Amino acid sequence: MTSERERLEADLQEAERELQELEEQLYDRPEFGLGEGGADAHSWEMALARKERVIAHVDALREALTKAREGTYGRCERCGAQIDPERLEILPATALCVDCARAVDTSVTPPLGSRA
Ligand SMILES: [Zn+2]
Repeated sequence: MTSERERLEADLQEAERELQELEEQLYDRPEFGLGEGGADAHSWEMALARKERVIAHVDALREALTKAREGTYGRCERCGAQIDPERLEILPATALCVDCARAVDTSVTPPLGSRA
């Protein structure tokens, strides 16, 4: 079995690489012409929005790695319950069990089939 730490480190590396790519993409800011923003401006804005999500993901993965080192990885930060391993498989950086995640963030889309 691959250790959680190895998996988290691999995910973190991937996220950091993606962040790097997005930063390069964002460096070439297109001209925002009046009324004709066009595809370039649109994809630039998409990259900017994506970058924010990737940064949040990198932060979450770093936090999860810290927990893995401390031996507290996989425990819900809110209620202390063990997080479902299947959930960790899908969302390795999550700090909350599915119930707490739903309770604190109603914007989270529940996985297929788990809708109440
Ligand atoms: Zn919980």
